[in-house]
Amino acid sequence: MHLNRGRPFPTLVWACVLLFGAAGCKTKADNPQAAPANPPFMTAAAAASPQIADDAPPPDKTGGFDGKRAFAHVVKQVAFGPRPAGSAAIAQTQDYIAAELKSYGCTVETDAFSADTPAGRLPMKNILAKIPGSSPGIILLGTHYDTKRLVNFVGADDGGSSTGVMLELARLLCAKRGRYAVWIAFFDGEEAVRKEWVDPDNCYGSRQMAARLATSGDLPKVKAFLLADIVGSGDLRIKRESYSTKWLTDLFWATAARLGYSGIFVPDETAVEDDHQSFLKRNVPSVNIIDLEIPYWHTAQDTLDKISAKSLAIVGHVFLEGVKQLQLK
Ligand SMILES: [Zn+2]
Repeated sequence: MHLNRGRPFPTLVWACVLLFGAAGCKTKADNPQAAPANPPFMTAAAAASPQIADDAPPPDKTGGFDGKRAFAHVVKQVAFGPRPAGSAAIAQTQDYIAAELKSYGCTVETDAFSADTPAGRLPMKNILAKIPGSSPGIILLGTHYDTKRLVNFVGADDGGSSTGVMLELARLLCAKRGRYAVWIAFFDGEEAVRKEWVDPDNCYGSRQMAARLATSGDLPKVKAFLLADIVGSGDLRIKRESYSTKWLTDLFWATAARLGYSGIFVPDETAVEDDHQSFLKRNVPSVNIIDLEIPYWHTAQDTLDKISAKSLAIVGHVFLEGVKQLQLK
């Protein structure tokens, strides 16, 4: 994903330059994070020790959503190592996601495709859990599970956190039947293969799914697309995302306020390019729930110690209640 406004870093960099001179400061461009053309993406030094999810609220306080379970999914993903599209580690991640979903009784569909990228043609895979409803209409949830191609980048928050939330949501939602179908999408290839975010080198998986749903005739049935991305920070602060559909953003923020999370779902706005745009471009009402203003964004410091089970549980709770609201519409 890509932040269009309100970047927090340049001001800090300039302040640093003023204080210490350019040699003492690292800009994002100087940061030696860009991955080599070929794997491996991980050096031995990058392995982080698992944290304990000791801040998880009891599930009965968050609508049944178990923050510890969501956290355990993040631990599992991080243990696979860096997971860029086409890597061996992402294949392990795909197997894990599909096996978890099946264990909850979800119907699982996978779409293996290949995408032409700046690194050549890469195999990618979308995974879709489908929960049937009693009336026509689909509520679509989504997350990306690939990680940015950077050395030692394990994406605990960026890729891991929202995927952990969606797996725990699937456990709860696959046991239920509502008025509308609920589909939960796990996208490959959200991250730009190049260091910079330049279209069309991003959102490969969500563009593929939106195109497939358009062809199958399912896309007009999608009443709302609910995206989560980077939701695990212990210092979580989610701004209204300004490309997102207003009524859907309002519904989520009203839901969060009713649940007592106004300190996390704040009224400020930011603009983030992300997987929701693949659906917005096709006129599907969409909302992006994201906290991109994390100091460790796209650095090797995006590790498990940044992740809070409580934050995962709060986001999961808001998604559960948001889906309930949409089932009444
Ligand atoms: Zn990212």
